[in-house]
Amino acid sequence: MNSNESAKKLQQKTAELIKKQGSGKITAADISNLREVLQFHEYRYYVLNDPLVTDTEYDHLYKSLEKLERENPALITADSPTQRVAGGLTKDFPQVQHLVPMLSLDNSYNAEDLADFDRKARESAEVDSIEYCVEPKFDGASISLVYEDDMLVRGATRGDGVKGDDITNNIRQIRSIPLSAPLKAHGIRQLEIRGEIMLTKANFKKYNDSLAEQNLPPLANPRNAAAGTLRLKDPKQVAARKLEGFLYHISFVTTTGKHKEPFHTHAESISLLWELGFKSPEHEKKVFKGIDKVIAFCHDFEAKRDDLPYEIDGLVIKVNDLALQDKLGMTSHHPRWAIAYKFKARQGTSHLRSVEFQVGRTGNITPVAKIDPVPIGGVMVSSISLHNEDFIREKDIRLGDQLLVERAGDVIPYVVKSFPELRKGTEKKIKFPETCPVCDHTLNKTEGEAAWRCNNYNCEAQVVQRMIHFASKDAMEITGMGEAIVNRFHEQGWLKNITSLYALPWNEIETLEGFGKKSVEKLKEAIEKSKSQPLYRLIYGLGIRYVGETTAKTIAQKIGHLLELENYSIEQLQEMEDVGPKVAGSIHEFFHDADSIRILKELEVLGLPLKNEKKELASGGNLTGLSFLFTGTLPTLKRSAAEAMVEANGGYILGGVSAKLNYLVVGEDAGSKLEKAKKINSVKIISEAEFLAMLPSK
Ligand code: AMP
Ligand code: ZN
Repeated sequence: MNSNESAKKLQQKTAELIKKQGSGKITAADISNLREVLQFHEYRYYVLNDPLVTDTEYDHLYKSLEKLERENPALITADSPTQRVAGGLTKDFPQVQHLVPMLSLDNSYNAEDLADFDRKARESAEVDSIEYCVEPKFDGASISLVYEDDMLVRGATRGDGVKGDDITNNIRQIRSIPLSAPLKAHGIRQLEIRGEIMLTKANFKKYNDSLAEQNLPPLANPRNAAAGTLRLKDPKQVAARKLEGFLYHISFVTTTGKHKEPFHTHAESISLLWELGFKSPEHEKKVFKGIDKVIAFCHDFEAKRDDLPYEIDGLVIKVNDLALQDKLGMTSHHPRWAIAYKFKARQGTSHLRSVEFQVGRTGNITPVAKIDPVPIGGVMVSSISLHNEDFIREKDIRLGDQLLVERAGDVIPYVVKSFPELRKGTEKKIKFPETCPVCDHTLNKTEGEAAWRCNNYNCEAQVVQRMIHFASKDAMEITGMGEAIVNRFHEQGWLKNITSLYALPWNEIETLEGFGKKSVEKLKEAIEKSKSQPLYRLIYGLGIRYVGETTAKTIAQKIGHLLELENYSIEQLQEMEDVGPKVAGSIHEFFHDADSIRILKELEVLGLPLKNEKKELASGGNLTGLSFLFTGTLPTLKRSAAEAMVEANGGYILGGVSAKLNYLVVGEDAGSKLEKAKKINSVKIISEAEFLAMLPSK
């Protein structure tokens, strides 16, 4: 599948199909070609990370296949790209027996361990030198897949090694795992393969960010996130998390007779997997003769660990020759022909000295653990968020406890657990304050929420955090006015609230250490520039609780002047797109607070336009004068990006569905807006792909 020649052929087929599609001549006779072409492009995208068609082209072809299959259900095959999401929720995961038990690996931590492993293997095999294959030890959730007659028939978790859980439906959501593979062409009838399901660091971060948005504590590491995802009952959610599958071991194979042994070394089996279309460590694996080179490689590789897009916790060293593997055999829990070389742990234990309670921008109180500094994965850790009171209670964390701390990759440190068994009796329960540690205002907790809050809008801690937020990149973007400077100016008494950002005593600042004429000029300029930011950035910058960038944009579209919001009732606010009772309540509260109104009026006097200078519509773009609205989750674009594209091409975004709307772009799980739009004849309902097709080609 991955030879250049067949790639060329498939790319030709793709072009023909796109052409047919354009002229409306595509028919049921094209189904098998469509399927083959889409499988090929899935492979290019998810296994090789090297797509040959645009997302839009792929989507259009996919839609054609879907449509033709709908009209000709008899022609659907189980490995069609449309068949990954088999409808409905999974009821349970029945237990299944692995064809060959899944063993664990013996571990090594240094050169001596590896030399020892090699010596024993050489003695037992009675040879002078052994050839080894070294590959990454993927840190995910292990799985076992069975393919029969070219089709994926089963995917299972490791379980106890002998029996695992059947998670086939979830495995089918992982697009780097092919639903069919050309086994027969390689003389293979049945194949059991082993691998690891992973979440890239980037996708893991996204997932944790989404948890934080819902006020939920993050997960410790991508491994836990991947393992948890594999057990979700809703395959659609599994698909949304974007797991990846690395396959590195053939545990069982039956041939069709012609070819007796399809491979003789481990490295050859990795290459075979690659040829069959699996994401195997074909390019990561290295073969060495003798253990010395292996040891040197292990040392060098550890330094590169952070450059990989996914987590690995070490390398696996395997005897390359399969006949020799057989000869060495295994103990009851691990093979004698393989060993894991573990990298330095990214965990450490330390003693909890104290807990500080920090006040966030919207008044949320976050407990932060101060621990005896401990090096973890090359970084000194001394301060770790404990998220909220529930987290502390669930983990039973007490002052004076020993804590297990983990820092996975680029992720912030995380308390995995406390050690109650190590307590001396002097440990103390952590007492949550009843009043704000900064302003002494009584703390409140809303039902159903995890965080305690200080509701005093003038709380000094919140004021500072708000100024930092106001100046930040996504808000007013005052370059140079970062956290450190805001804090410093605040300590000097120059920054009291956001209005004082526009009335700084420049003469005094010039005399401050570390500030020259030049840096003052730059900062002045950045502040001046912020006055011409679009209104939505100001709204977002105000830091109104629950008002993120998207809501800020919705509001900005709706109004002619910011202070109009003083006259909006909660009900009227709720008429705005995506504004529910919680958000509406918060906006209402803000615009009925005398202090906030005073600040807004002062800002206007200082030269910040509160008026909605409806952006000059970009002219010349293909969308000039057309109105758009987005609903549901778009397959590839972030909503903010899609909206920016509309504006950049002369179109504009409407606040809700009405007869004024020209296009409603629908993604997945579109809600009431779609229903409403269907009732208005003039509104055109289109997909993201159709929307993208309206834009000028680059
Ligand atoms: P451990 O769980 O520390 O005993 O390590 C053994 C596990 O590492 C195996 O069961 C596999 O799930 C996993 N593993 C990750 N990468 C590899 C690899 N390249 N070869 C073998 N096992 C691997
Ligand atoms: Zn306070």
